[in-house]
Amino acid sequence: MDMKAGTNPLLQPWDTPHGLPPFDSLRPEHFEPALAAAMQAHRDELEAIATQAAEPDFDNTAAAFDRAGAQLAGIAAAFYNLTSSATSPELQAVQRALAGPMAAHHSAVHMDARLFGRIAVVHARREALCAEQRRLVERLHLDFVRAGARLPAAAQQRYAQVMQELARLTTRFAQNVLHDESSWQLALHGEADLAGLPDFVRASARQAAAERGVDGHLITLARSLVVPFLTFSQRRDLREQAWRAWVGRGENAGEHDNREVARDILRLRNEQARLHGHASYADYSLADTMAGTQTAAQGLLNEVWPRALAAVERERAALHEAMQAAGERGEIEPWDWRYWAEQVRRERYAVDDAEVKPYFELGRVVQAAFDCATRLFGLHFSARDDIPVYHPDVRAYEVRDREGRVVGIFLQDNHARANKRSGAWMSSLRWQARNGAPQLPVILNNNNFAKGEPTLLSLDDARTLFHEFGHGLHGLLSNVTYVRLSGTQVLRDFVELPSQIFEHWIGEPEVLRRHARHYQTGAPIPDALIERLQRARRFGQGYETVRYTASAIVDLAVHALTDAEPPADLCAFEAELLQAQGLPPGVGLNHRLVHFQHLFASSGYAAGYYYYLWAEVLDADGYDAFTEAGSPFDAEVAGRLLRHIYAVGNSVDPAAAYAAFRGRGPTVQPLLKKRGLLEAA
Ligand SMILES: [Zn+2]
Repeated sequence: MDMKAGTNPLLQPWDTPHGLPPFDSLRPEHFEPALAAAMQAHRDELEAIATQAAEPDFDNTAAAFDRAGAQLAGIAAAFYNLTSSATSPELQAVQRALAGPMAAHHSAVHMDARLFGRIAVVHARREALCAEQRRLVERLHLDFVRAGARLPAAAQQRYAQVMQELARLTTRFAQNVLHDESSWQLALHGEADLAGLPDFVRASARQAAAERGVDGHLITLARSLVVPFLTFSQRRDLREQAWRAWVGRGENAGEHDNREVARDILRLRNEQARLHGHASYADYSLADTMAGTQTAAQGLLNEVWPRALAAVERERAALHEAMQAAGERGEIEPWDWRYWAEQVRRERYAVDDAEVKPYFELGRVVQAAFDCATRLFGLHFSARDDIPVYHPDVRAYEVRDREGRVVGIFLQDNHARANKRSGAWMSSLRWQARNGAPQLPVILNNNNFAKGEPTLLSLDDARTLFHEFGHGLHGLLSNVTYVRLSGTQVLRDFVELPSQIFEHWIGEPEVLRRHARHYQTGAPIPDALIERLQRARRFGQGYETVRYTASAIVDLAVHALTDAEPPADLCAFEAELLQAQGLPPGVGLNHRLVHFQHLFASSGYAAGYYYYLWAEVLDADGYDAFTEAGSPFDAEVAGRLLRHIYAVGNSVDPAAAYAAFRGRGPTVQPLLKKRGLLEAA
């Protein structure tokens, strides 16, 4: 195969609508040479900045640094998007081969003493700059420092090795989880195995079987399939099998075992932190967050934990009672919880998922999200089927503002596939910026809904779609000058505010009446069902809050360890910690360390699973501004939300941005109220 630049589509001008990656002509073997060439081009640009004769100033150093590397960023974004959403053994091999060199490139850029020297000069004179320029210079300076720019030469060399090794290990961790998820399956034979499963779960299980070329019904470890199975299956033995496989991901002996991989990552992170002079990785990581310290993050978890334990105990008692009334013996086990919670929900609130789902057909939920963005921010979405995408499931949209100007491109990939990682996430193929030629954002949302005919969502699924769409809007509505400050590249415990606040709209009766229509009859969801849904939602909050908070506690604890050597048995560490915290045995965790991708598939949420709760303080308090104004679409509040939160990216300090939106700092009470935890103290 000829791999000269002349034939590699990644290295040609991207002659596609809006300059999207030429997905329809990309092959795995294009990436390694293209990324190598793009890294070289980036180095050349930086060399020109470092060696110029002119005195360092904002334009020739900070703004120029911000402009550099656009080609590399574009190719890397296309690559990582494919490895997450449509991977293959070939792409996985390229990903393993590139992890080290990409990390080495990042280290080399930030350890270039000439570049850092110029940034430092501009930084020292930053008071004379305008606010956004000053913010950029402060951010770049901190990026350099946190990547090791100030370390002595010998320490820098070791630091770069540590970062490369971490990149290899986190890649392996993620590939191991994907392996365990895509290789396990439970075949259901006949009516006895299908007992309790509503039509939509059966349809998804048939679809999963068809995708794997077999007849009948298959349960896989895709969250969108295994969670409904655990919720509805009357077969306790099969629920137990599915549960054990699900929580056992990453803990299977052999070449995909993550137990040692996670320990190796923790050991290297501890070394990384020590090189920076911090006692633990949690200290290093939290230094660049809104919370700022372990004490602040832990303080929020401590405030919520005992209230959540009290709430979950009330729920457990109700579940146990229902189980005994049905003549089953023993205690509620983790594989029983969802099933009996569904029974209690049905009995107490007359709500069950099978009744609710016909009102949440996927296409209608997508339109509901678009409509909320129109009413709040004046955005309009129109399908562009001529834009090349990487899989037929992906839909592309052009996004216009009130004046009809195109402000961005939005791609949505909603379905679970065997070659796609689990969960839901937003990513960017290009950030908005106008440092040089203005560039429109290209924003991608991934969900993992099981495909059906039609695809029907639960209210939780719909909320997930709104969550990711909130991140998407944060990217699409970005209105800043510099790439580094654009979109969701904010402090990490602030990033869930735009996503979580957007979840509130799918719970609004006004939105539900308009968009939650029965897929067969078109009838709107009845008011009485909305009311029952809202009461029923309170019931599960103890379970959700305890599982989430337990995972956040484990994350902080394991990253707060100061010993160079991590615990010999991470699974035992996790179990002992949770027992000491009083986690009821029937609950189970959201994520166990051996498959906790937030922590170990990258450093994104390492020592940072608390981010969601931190941002929830802000979103609960922030959404009250609409309640106080008397309408979920109050134009004045929506205008402030757009100006101070969605549009500013990282160009403003997050605490100041929030105060500008709300007129004051946040309080924790609305979060406790929203989760029904106030009475539980
Ligand atoms: Zn999120």
